[in-house]
Amino acid sequence: MSARLLDGKKIRDQILAELAPQVHSLAAAHRPPGLAVILVGDNPASAIYVRSKVAACHELGIHSEQLTPPASISTSELLSLIDNLNRRDDIDGILVQMPLPPQIDSRAVLLAIRPDKDVDGFHPFNVGNLVAGSPGPRACTPAGIMEMLLRYDIPVEGRRAVVVGRSDIVGKPMALMLLHRNATVTICHSRTPGLAAECRRADILVAAIGKPALITADFIQPGATVIDVGMNRITDPALAARIFARRPDRLTQLAAKGSILIGDVHPVEGPEVAGALTPVPGGVGPLTIAMLMSNTVRSAESRLLAAPAAPCSS
Ligand code: NDP
Repeated sequence: MSARLLDGKKIRDQILAELAPQVHSLAAAHRPPGLAVILVGDNPASAIYVRSKVAACHELGIHSEQLTPPASISTSELLSLIDNLNRRDDIDGILVQMPLPPQIDSRAVLLAIRPDKDVDGFHPFNVGNLVAGSPGPRACTPAGIMEMLLRYDIPVEGRRAVVVGRSDIVGKPMALMLLHRNATVTICHSRTPGLAAECRRADILVAAIGKPALITADFIQPGATVIDVGMNRITDPALAARIFARRPDRLTQLAAKGSILIGDVHPVEGPEVAGALTPVPGGVGPLTIAMLMSNTVRSAESRLLAAPAAPCSS
């Protein structure tokens, strides 16, 4: 069997195409939506993520601003940057690229962003909305995965879903979103005994672990939908040779580029057992940015199109 590949780029393009007219009409009637991205220091991986986010804004006509304070910035200086963005009427979304340098109190930074401008959906106020099933910006990666399941007509209601990983940004919100769509959800983590057996019960298996190729054939129920969130850059030729023992052609990429990107799902065994699978790259990654754009547009709409308050009658 060879799994159907769930194409994240195709879904991203659909989402961006749907957002484009909304951005244009906001820009024509009021102003374009505005996203501010704060990139602290010079972490090369963070810089790549931020570049892709800014490029997506540019493609859609969303106004974007990049703030790049040095790695030596203090928590209070960063909080004052955020305070300024919180007050600006032309900024609908504020994103602080993680991770932050060790001297910064990341939690204080997260809490400082106005919840209605928290386009990452990480503020506890928005986490509370997610738990309660109330409207509000949702964490982009799991929200993108839900869009993918919906647009590929993969049924969720009544299905058994297993999420491996319990981080605040992927695992936990993912489990809650699946639960709200009436899946029966199990969350697994590093202390879960019998992980393979737990995973094998899944009709929908989400791997958000950060361990290359951990999910091998014996973790996957034949025919299951497997969502691979992991993004692991492999540079060790011996590890790559083990993983791609039956696909030596893939090793040419490592030889040419010096590294190869693989997910948490074994890239050779996963497609042989799963019914549908997100590839790495090209699966979940593109959806994260699409949902960030969507959250920014929603935030602008709620700010710009909100009905004016009724006048006081007394
Ligand atoms: P975290 O490191 O925050 O969380 C990893 C989770 O995996 C933890 O809950 C941990 O358990 C669990 N885990 C670790 N080892 C094992 C194991 N051997 N067995 C079972 N569970 C294990 O990672 P994130 O959630 O931030 O990210 C996960 C992956 O997804 C990473 O590869 C990241 O790069 C990728 N990612 C991709 C995105 C995209 O857009 N495609 C967006 C965000 C992340 P415990 O809690 O017990 O420690």
